[in-house]
Amino acid sequence: MNRRTLGFGAAGIVVVGIVLLLSLNGNRVERSDSDPNDELAQVEPEVIEPQLLFGIDISDKKVVEGKIKRNQTIADILSSYNISRQEIFELDRKSKKVFSVRNLVPRKNYTLIYSDDSFKRATHFVYEPNSLEYVIYSFVNGVEISKEERAVEIVERTMAGRITVSLDHSIRQQGGSAALVNKVAEVFGWQIDFYGLQKNDWFKVIYEDRIVDGESIGVGEVISAEFNHIGSPYYAYGYDGGDGIDFYDEEGESLQRAFLRWPVEFSRISSRYNPRRYLKFYGRVKAHLGTDFAAGKGTPIKAAADGIVVTRGFTRANGNWVKIKHNSTYTTGYLHMSRFGKFKQGQRVRKGDVIGYVGKTGNATGYHLCFRFWKHGQQVDYIKEKSRLPSENPIEDNHRARFAAFVELQNKKLSDIQGDWADRTLSAGANQ
Ligand SMILES: [Zn+2]
Repeated sequence: MNRRTLGFGAAGIVVVGIVLLLSLNGNRVERSDSDPNDELAQVEPEVIEPQLLFGIDISDKKVVEGKIKRNQTIADILSSYNISRQEIFELDRKSKKVFSVRNLVPRKNYTLIYSDDSFKRATHFVYEPNSLEYVIYSFVNGVEISKEERAVEIVERTMAGRITVSLDHSIRQQGGSAALVNKVAEVFGWQIDFYGLQKNDWFKVIYEDRIVDGESIGVGEVISAEFNHIGSPYYAYGYDGGDGIDFYDEEGESLQRAFLRWPVEFSRISSRYNPRRYLKFYGRVKAHLGTDFAAGKGTPIKAAADGIVVTRGFTRANGNWVKIKHNSTYTTGYLHMSRFGKFKQGQRVRKGDVIGYVGKTGNATGYHLCFRFWKHGQQVDYIKEKSRLPSENPIEDNHRARFAAFVELQNKKLSDIQGDWADRTLSAGANQ
């Protein structure tokens, strides 16, 4: 957005140059709306379109672009363009309902449009609070204000990478964003341990890039992906079965689990489940039947899945702790809380509800959550058990045919992504 940095003292010639650049941009956007296959549209004589900027005809106007300066008000800007005090008063009053002119923030882009005549009167002031929205303050028919949203164009992009250091490294090296790293890790989070990736694991991903005025404003959804981990292929297909996009494997089984991946915002596992842990302090083996997550005091602790609070109390070893029964198979425990959430014993909780806060009550040396996991009444290693946890619902029957067609199309696209290190016999298309 370099061309938006021009300040007030712009000479007339420079201003004209900007107008042309912007109008080219405007025309390009319009063309993309018309159907390129429509032959009638192609033979029609060329019509000279008005030059549009924010939908405003600027063919007989001049344009100044800038960024709001510190302590600058809209009145400071408009007073040089023959907008009266009364109009500014009205603007202030009327704008409150749409987007108050008092909410203008330094360094945000604005565009001032004024008449190309001896009056040099502002016709429009356009403010951009973010890359998606803009507010038009118009002075053509009295004072009028409207808030608009730009059209977001979704472009499908692909990426393939081989793991040499980490997923983060592979994606960043190719110019991918941290958001894309997170999305890929999120999609396969239950199937693949991203802290245990192997050299030469590889991935392919098809994802949405959100474009506004020719510039990317960020990653959208992952559309499909393939991850080859220690020679085993994993697939993910983002499909909307009516409740928004969810991720499924090639059979239509959900990749998401009925459980949360971590009961606290993942910080660091400080001690894993270990039935034969040797404790120097005791000079003997003392089982650690939980998974410890080091986290700051007061970090919210979440119910790992839907269930009923069966214990909420205090013991000398566990400190403040909560136990939740999820079903006849699984029960979870959360130890050493500094304080409880609002859920009482006997109450029903939903996955993700805050049931307490990290502390160090009971036998705990530092702030952490000791997370306990029971399967059929036996304590087991949550991290090992994770991949075996029950899935969310699979693709519904009435979506099966559409989903199968989607998978077929995505497999073709995935196999078309170049990655010469990828073993073709394992890649998606070769399976068909
Ligand atoms: Zn523990």
